[in-house]
Amino acid sequence: MESIKVVCPNCLKVNRIPKKDHYNKANCGYCKNSLLHTKPKEVDANTFSHFINNSDLPIVVDFWAPWCGPCRMMAPNFEQASLNMPIKAQFLKVNTESEQMLGVQYGIRSIPTMIIFKNGQEVDRVSGALNTQQIIEWVSRYS
Ligand SMILES: [Zn+2]
Repeated sequence: MESIKVVCPNCLKVNRIPKKDHYNKANCGYCKNSLLHTKPKEVDANTFSHFINNSDLPIVVDFWAPWCGPCRMMAPNFEQASLNMPIKAQFLKVNTESEQMLGVQYGIRSIPTMIIFKNGQEVDRVSGALNTQQIIEWVSRYS
């Protein structure tokens, strides 16, 4: 059976799980937490590269900052999209204030900006706040 690598958002261990269209249950083999009920994970530079280099799923990153109104407005939408796409994509948040190097590295000029990574490479980005459905539709093109 075809398998895919998924990074556990809780313990960060890399799990290899069977590739399916739908999952009723999928638990991390290390910490036993469910891989299905995942809220976006706030990451620093190290955790960010761990995810984009070890997950076979598209990684969706929300570059945001605490002072940014549209970012705070979009946060619940981003969270809903994440909860709606278990093992279709993994959702991360990068605070561009505490992780300024990542913002510079990816040329983030306005926030919120969302970038999708596959196999460590950027495949698409969008700037400006989207609603839940728009995020899901955008991410679905790559998952
Ligand atoms: Zn785990």
